[in-house]
Amino acid sequence: MNLRETLKINEKGHLEIGGMDTVDIAEKFGTPLYVFDEDYIRKMMRVYKNTIEKEYDGNGQVLYASKAFSCEAIYAIAKQEGIGVDVVSGGELYTALKAGFPLKKAYMHGNNKLLRELDFALDNGIGSIVVDSFREADIIEELAGNKGIKQNVLIRINPGVEAHTHAFIQTARTDSKFGFSVSDGSAEELIAYILKKKNIVLKGYHCHIGSQIFEKRSFELAAEKVMDFSAYIKKKLGFEVSELNMGGGFGVWYNEEDPKLKSADYENYLKALIKTIKEKADEHGLKLPYLLIEPGRSIVGEAGITLYTVGAIKEIKGVKKYVAVDGGMFDNPRYALYQSKYSVLLANRAKEPCTEKVTVAGKCCESGDLIAVDVSLPEAKEGDVMAVLTTGAYNYSMASNYNRNFIPAAVLVKDGKADYIIKPQTYEDIVRNDLIPESLKK
Ligand SMILES: *Cc1c(COP(=O)(O)O)cnc(C)c1O
Repeated sequence: MNLRETLKINEKGHLEIGGMDTVDIAEKFGTPLYVFDEDYIRKMMRVYKNTIEKEYDGNGQVLYASKAFSCEAIYAIAKQEGIGVDVVSGGELYTALKAGFPLKKAYMHGNNKLLRELDFALDNGIGSIVVDSFREADIIEELAGNKGIKQNVLIRINPGVEAHTHAFIQTARTDSKFGFSVSDGSAEELIAYILKKKNIVLKGYHCHIGSQIFEKRSFELAAEKVMDFSAYIKKKLGFEVSELNMGGGFGVWYNEEDPKLKSADYENYLKALIKTIKEKADEHGLKLPYLLIEPGRSIVGEAGITLYTVGAIKEIKGVKKYVAVDGGMFDNPRYALYQSKYSVLLANRAKEPCTEKVTVAGKCCESGDLIAVDVSLPEAKEGDVMAVLTTGAYNYSMASNYNRNFIPAAVLVKDGKADYIIKPQTYEDIVRNDLIPESLKK
């Protein structure tokens, strides 16, 4: 298997991450377990940050899209790396706050932000809010007025660019619950509406054309459309953007069907975006906007793996073989949601040739609870340690206590040492919020 540089197979034939033997990690911390490589996370944050420094005179900022993986430690890393974050709920905002993250470097998203979330965000000095409805603009206007502040906002627009990826994770099409279309006049209407508000400062536009995108052209096209729209609005309404947030969506490697990108490839996406913005600014006589990008998956995705222990094995003669692990859709619902594909290996027998095709199943009471379908492995035995690669993004953040299973703990590995960043749950955590009313106690 074609492994990323921080993963390797050691002389014992075990998979290693961040200089640590995954079999030792599994023994010490138990399974299922999320394992994150700190160096990889930092490297990816720096790739984007340095490219903005070099190619755009530092006139911009990287925002880590924390919905990909949100916990206190990741905000602490973002803070140390000097980048911003985007948050999409009161819970993510609270987590960032608790980690000591400076919220003036946080942008808040959401198609239906709740009043209490907006109130909480304004009370804690959120840097900017990406407005996604007329009603939201009214709420912010009122809240900001009551608090005696002027709130910076962007508005979310749909440039109408379709990124080629799984249909369920495309978000910038005209038929989307997100954003306002540039083509049907609705974005223009919202801009005019916001420009009349007294306590809201419109800085510019945000768009996010989808996720798991590899086509450089989609990012360029989005930038072209957004800059053309900026020029149109400047003419029409006299408003010129000072900030442009081009979203995230840079793809990662999950399995052999995906390209394996290097730092230079991510740099090139950003360079292409910057080049387009500069050309378009020139063409239309616009000022160069402060540029924001919001990578999530590409920062944490390949940094993370999940370790499981193999349990029950069931062969249905002439049909298929199921290898069940001690996790499942409660720690990784992405197969169940999108039929996402993952690469799987036996971490304790990583050098052995693959001799059979199996389906890796979870332990939930749900036939769709699968982790990987038709993957090649050596003949798995009970007790083997299984590693699923590229689980750093949208796994822990989408985990649940379905079937009252524990959401796995997470460790951060660096220089051959591992520390918990999310501790294991206990049965007590499972029932923490349960109550039995008096009437049921008789
Ligand atoms: C999900 C999301 C991102 C991050 O997308 P990735 O594919 O993880 O890079 C960025 N911005 C917005 C608004 C999003 O919804």
